[in-house]
Amino acid sequence: MTKYVYDFTEGDKDQKDLLGGKGANLAEMTNLGLPVPPGFTITTEACRVYLNEGAAPEELDVQVTGAIREVEAKMGKHLGDPADPLLMSVRSGAKFSMPGMMETVLNIGLNDESVLGLAEQSGDERFAWDSYRRLVQMFGKTVLHIEGEPFADALHALQDEKGYAGDPDMTTEDLQRLVVEFKAIVKEATGHDFPQNPREQLDLAIKAVFNSWNTERARIYRRREHIPNDIGTAVNVQTMVFGNMGAGSGTGVCFTRDPSTGHSGVYGDYLENAQGEDVVAGIRNTLPLSALGELDKKSYDELLAIMDRLEIHYRDLCDIEFTVERGKLWMLQTRVGKRTPAAAFRVADQLVDERLITRDEAVTRVTGDQLTSLLFPQFDKDAKKVTITRGMPASPGAAVGEIVMDNATAVARTQAGAKVVLVRRETNPEDLQGMVVSEGILTARGGKTSHAAVVARGMGRCCVVGADDLVVDDVAGTMKVKSTGKEFKVGDIIAIDGTTGEIFEGDVPVTDSPVTTYLAEGLEAGLAAAHTDDDRDLVGAVDRIMSHADEKRRMLVRANADSPEDAARARAFGAQGIGLCRTEHMFLGSRRKLIEKMILAHDEATQAEALAELLPYQREDFIGIFDAMDGLPVTVRLIDPPLHEFLPDLTDLSVKLAVKEAKGEEITDDERELLAAVKSHHEQNPMLGLRGVRLGLKIPGLIRLQVRAIAEAAAHLMKEGKDPKPEIMVPLIGGVRELQIVRDMALEVIAEVSKETGVELELPIGNMIELPRAAVSADTIATESDFFSFGTNDLTQTTWGFSRDDVEGTFFNEYFDYGVFGVSPFESVDLGGVGALVDMGVQRGRHSKPNMKMGVCGEHGGDPSSIHFFEKVGLNYVSCSPFRVPVARLESGRAAIENETTYVRHFNDL
Ligand code: PEP
Ligand code: MG
Repeated sequence: MTKYVYDFTEGDKDQKDLLGGKGANLAEMTNLGLPVPPGFTITTEACRVYLNEGAAPEELDVQVTGAIREVEAKMGKHLGDPADPLLMSVRSGAKFSMPGMMETVLNIGLNDESVLGLAEQSGDERFAWDSYRRLVQMFGKTVLHIEGEPFADALHALQDEKGYAGDPDMTTEDLQRLVVEFKAIVKEATGHDFPQNPREQLDLAIKAVFNSWNTERARIYRRREHIPNDIGTAVNVQTMVFGNMGAGSGTGVCFTRDPSTGHSGVYGDYLENAQGEDVVAGIRNTLPLSALGELDKKSYDELLAIMDRLEIHYRDLCDIEFTVERGKLWMLQTRVGKRTPAAAFRVADQLVDERLITRDEAVTRVTGDQLTSLLFPQFDKDAKKVTITRGMPASPGAAVGEIVMDNATAVARTQAGAKVVLVRRETNPEDLQGMVVSEGILTARGGKTSHAAVVARGMGRCCVVGADDLVVDDVAGTMKVKSTGKEFKVGDIIAIDGTTGEIFEGDVPVTDSPVTTYLAEGLEAGLAAAHTDDDRDLVGAVDRIMSHADEKRRMLVRANADSPEDAARARAFGAQGIGLCRTEHMFLGSRRKLIEKMILAHDEATQAEALAELLPYQREDFIGIFDAMDGLPVTVRLIDPPLHEFLPDLTDLSVKLAVKEAKGEEITDDERELLAAVKSHHEQNPMLGLRGVRLGLKIPGLIRLQVRAIAEAAAHLMKEGKDPKPEIMVPLIGGVRELQIVRDMALEVIAEVSKETGVELELPIGNMIELPRAAVSADTIATESDFFSFGTNDLTQTTWGFSRDDVEGTFFNEYFDYGVFGVSPFESVDLGGVGALVDMGVQRGRHSKPNMKMGVCGEHGGDPSSIHFFEKVGLNYVSCSPFRVPVARLESGRAAIENETTYVRHFNDL
């Protein structure tokens, strides 16, 4: 029989796939002997069965019964016991944390009878009835899918009638009346009574959690975070403990280090007399954790000791949720905490200093995406700023943009090219879409662990929370400042500083990040550019981690660059050569006319003349680039795109000439000829037409010109005592014969130039693997090739049959929705298809030519997860855009370190 239910005593932290993150960590804490309320976890496997088959596995019921019995035995209480009921919470918990995305139901087990028992046992009637009305409300909303409004309306009607300011004014009798009204709402909406049977409540709540896996907002979240759609969630059923039992009780969230800056020292929020979700929901402003030390020293000291223990046990920053019930501390959750990118680098570096982790581990604890976030600009410290007010800094960065207050406006304005700042009273999971497109997020309520703060940190988005000087009215579209009386409206520009919590009026200039300065100009310059001790500390941490990644990585990192400026920038960022120098843009602008002349030429002499005119330009292009990369390889790709890209557009030209004709103006012979040429070069599918190597075979002069320019540029620089290292790359090769022809041609030209200049030239000649046929026949192609570079852009296009310029805007959304893929194959390499072809190409190529140099130069060369794949298949280098070079260095280092232990080859048998 499959085991679908695990008591907390049975699992451990490494079982996240099966028990979800929350369940695995609850089990770990239980086994460490920490005070965890007893409970059990229903596995993700049970959820998957439920989602696939529309019903839970049959054994589940029986196993849940057994697990309840265990908990009852431990607690000495029974679910639904009218005299002294055991109450339980039901929470989701997927493998990857999805804050606020799925459902929670508290106080399961209360009914018309047991509420009396709870009142009796707790000695607090009001508390018992408050818990019961919360259950009916929460159960109604999340399990029975009743709108929240009728409940809120009933609550407000009662409070208005009695003239109350808020919930705390309500008496036991009021709460009893609310229970009656809430139950009537349930009956009205569903046609059934609110379930009195605790086991039925529990079963329905479990199902609701399973179902919540597929809500719209959960799907959007997963797509953004690249979390697979089919892994499902676990369900944690746990004994309730109450932080809302009066002044000696409370609930909080804490971190073992500051997740915002990485400072060591305890950090967190505490809310007195509050239950579970109140802290995260950001509904009430919280106290700093240290306040607990004054309120309840015993619990505080115990908590600090546990935090210490957890951090040493997990060897990482932990975040923790806890509750104090009448002076007794309970641990409700822990996990390795989310943190800002700056904190990730600083904490990893600190943990090495503290001898808790190795330098190798430190490199694996940070990601390329986090490094990218650190490259974002900050506000210019010296700029004049007009402060509106301030809130709490929740996620660092600098954001400037128009105020927006809802998803629709946020999306519409950003689509129109505007930058926006999402301003809300507080955020909830429904605001996710707006948060995704905003530069920054500002809320008037809530603490550093509120929904806005947690989600923004996860996205690396700038965020300021709890600016309680602001009154946000999203209906009127206004943001009023209480202290000054000023008013701002939707569309006004504001700036927020997620590092200090400051909020400014209008546009504020921003400066480069010191990490960018460090990466481009070195450690000293980076330290000098840092304005604060924290920033200096960060630059030092990034330097130590990057240096170690460089030391450990096996793959080289090159850049895709086709101008001396880009080459120099890439080199400053640490590029070890150019992996792709596209040459087509060198034929645009004023040179386009020469290409046009070449295309239109009737005879070889005219064609040769046009090409000869192009030669000095091309030679200068290459001299500039080789010089900028002196001593490092530069892979120059011969011209690739269809020729019509150099000719006028067919429709434009036809219309122009037709208008001329209609006006009775004379059309010249040249114009007629041009139109004929444009027509003859018109193709239905130019991407599959006369391009790449095919151009070279059709117009050999073009290839000769390019090879000559490369060779002459190299000879020129060598005579100057430089060390140019060009490599010639032929695009769109499908079969070996194509390469053979071009290679012979190129070798002839190189020999000519050698002779003319007296400089001995040995230029490698290789090709791109960007067609499935090339990957499949890589063993034969390798016999004529000095190196391969995988062009995963075209390889994705041709493997899937997707037009790379069209599909992302036409049907990809549907493909995401249907789960055909979770991330665009143009962004992250599609392992099952394109990746398999790359692996095949590597193996077949090296079968003929062991140790053959191979790299990748498609966009995927700068994508973290693709880089890990390229490490596994054994590429020698990745090539990416200059700005991605630091990310590729770090990720290649991580991949090499991780690969030491987890080498998997996909095509052993090829
Ligand atoms: C590729 O196809 O992956 C490639 C790098 O070439 P381009 O994007 O220029 O077609
Ligand atoms: Mg290509």
